Amino acid sequence: MKIKDIGEFEFIDRIRNGCLIRPDGVVQAIGDDAAAFEMPADKLTLVTTDLLVERVHFLRDATTGFNLGYKALAVNLSDIAAMGGKAREAFISIAVPGDCDLMFLEDFYRGMRRLAKQHDVNLLGGDTTRSKIDLVINIGVVGSVSVQRMLVRSAAEPGDRIFTTGYLGNSRAGLHLILNGINAETQSYQALMEAHLRPYPYLEEGQFLAAHPGVHAAIDVSDGTLSDLGHILGASRVGGRLWSTQIPVSSPLEQFAADFGFDAVGYALTGGEDYTLVVTIAADQVQAIQQMYAKRFDKHLFEIGEITDSTGLELVDAAGGIKAAEPEGWNHFK
Ligand code: ADP
Ligand code: MG
Repeated sequence: MKIKDIGEFEFIDRIRNGCLIRPDGVVQAIGDDAAAFEMPADKLTLVTTDLLVERVHFLRDATTGFNLGYKALAVNLSDIAAMGGKAREAFISIAVPGDCDLMFLEDFYRGMRRLAKQHDVNLLGGDTTRSKIDLVINIGVVGSVSVQRMLVRSAAEPGDRIFTTGYLGNSRAGLHLILNGINAETQSYQALMEAHLRPYPYLEEGQFLAAHPGVHAAIDVSDGTLSDLGHILGASRVGGRLWSTQIPVSSPLEQFAADFGFDAVGYALTGGEDYTLVVTIAADQVQAIQQMYAKRFDKHLFEIGEITDSTGLELVDAAGGIKAAEPEGWNHFK
């Protein structure tokens, strides 16, 4: 069945079940002209939106509805994570071509609901309209953060150490496998594809880091580590130096790079869509924060470099040689 066979209103009726995940504070969920909910009185409200256009951001045939829904929400949750906030309400607007399979769209909502449940986020409304050819998805997420704890890009200080919450480059490797129709037969390749199709939003980790005054600046890696770190450097008016031997490269990425003759560290630095958090931490707080983080999440915070009082970004190679790194990565208009 296609969406044109049932129309907008029956479609909304089909997807609205299970969208209210955390009812407390919600006065009006899906079903009226606007949603109504309470926000914590002592917090700032965070709002973020992301637009996904078929053939620009995703290929409908190369993903499942479930993964597309999961990822569309995950990239928004990641923006809230990078501010140190808690994600609360999500709004989903979609422009759908009439021939779009209803099963694909229902699967899309299943994917969103799965992730929303994991992070206690409501799907609280949206809009549905027709598109001629491409599927267009806009998700907006409302979150909250305490004003003293909010993480921003502009707070890095010379001497800070630079960290990532996870491995880098996996997502781009996964994309390479998908675009080239390479079968994910090995566990390694499956892990890379999964990193691309179902990125993990570091929400709880972001809140934990924001609670510590030694954590200064933060951003999530959407365009690529060099590019996104470049935003921190620019906003904070500082420089940065990365240790190329310290960049966390997963064993699946190492395997992939060896199989195809790619440079794994290059992938990690410019890949994009990893959605890890890159944070800067005051040098004298590093040990304490790393230990608490490991205890709380059973995960490692990877130290990849340091903030300097110059400008620009440098890369230090294994032999100690220093070269300037362009904050390259994904740029939509290049
Ligand atoms: P209106 O015409 O007043 O904009 P709609 O019929 O578009 O109202 O929406 C009715 C309800 O369904 C609203 O609560 C709206 O937020 C919700 N809604 C519409 N489309 C979607 C969607 N794609 N995902 C989630 N909720 C939706
Ligand atoms: Mg509407």
